[in-house]
Amino acid sequence: MANEPHIRSSGREVVGEKGSGCWRCGYSRVGIGQGTPCPECGSPAIRPVDAEPDESVWEEPTTSDALSGRVPDDAVTYARWLDARVAERDVGRSWSMTGLIALGAGPFAVVGAFAGAIWGGGQGFFGAIVLVVFGPIVEEVCKVALATYVVERKPYLFLSRTQILICAGAAGLVFSVIENLLYLHVYVRLPSAELVLWRWTVCVALHVGCSVLAGMGLASAWRDGMRDKRRPDLVPATRWLVGAIVLHGAYNALAIMLERGGVLF
Ligand SMILES: [Zn+2]
Repeated sequence: MANEPHIRSSGREVVGEKGSGCWRCGYSRVGIGQGTPCPECGSPAIRPVDAEPDESVWEEPTTSDALSGRVPDDAVTYARWLDARVAERDVGRSWSMTGLIALGAGPFAVVGAFAGAIWGGGQGFFGAIVLVVFGPIVEEVCKVALATYVVERKPYLFLSRTQILICAGAAGLVFSVIENLLYLHVYVRLPSAELVLWRWTVCVALHVGCSVLAGMGLASAWRDGMRDKRRPDLVPATRWLVGAIVLHGAYNALAIMLERGGVLF
């Protein structure tokens, strides 16, 4: 079973470059394709812990111990791949990445929100639907999109749940700062002091709160995946994200009602 070509072959057939040797015995691999094991020691071209676990036969859903026996010592598995990545990770690099996501996720979400606003912008009932439903979906999804990608594909890059919460909270903060600057300096001419205060308190808190809520689900998915050494399951995290979207949508609906009722500003 294990030696059969498997269903998710990457199709890569790179011939070893000049000077490249077998990772285990050093035997020259010049002219030998990636799919061919070392002629000297029989090792695969790529070190098992460096191979993409999604392409491994040992991560196929049909692989079971009863059918295929014990997992060989040099078989590619998600757990071994994760252990190797964790062993070589770098604290400075992890925090740099956290900082980049923390600062970049907000602007990324603003671009997403703009695209949504151009598509559905307008007054009346449809405009309200966009504000209450589509706006919160786009904004909340975009704010945690970068962190979600890392959790799903490169979870070893994060060192702790705290970093994920920082990414989420900062995304909400940066997003609301950009939104307020646009709203109070571009959209609204001469905003009242009450509107300015409202936007810099309630709106900022709403954005940070909703993002942290979505981030909490993501952080739990990351923690469980790292603990059990499996690909993080994002289904429970999606429930937290939906919670953030509903909260954000409810706020927008309330704000529209108060505004149209003449209560707010
Ligand atoms: Zn070899």
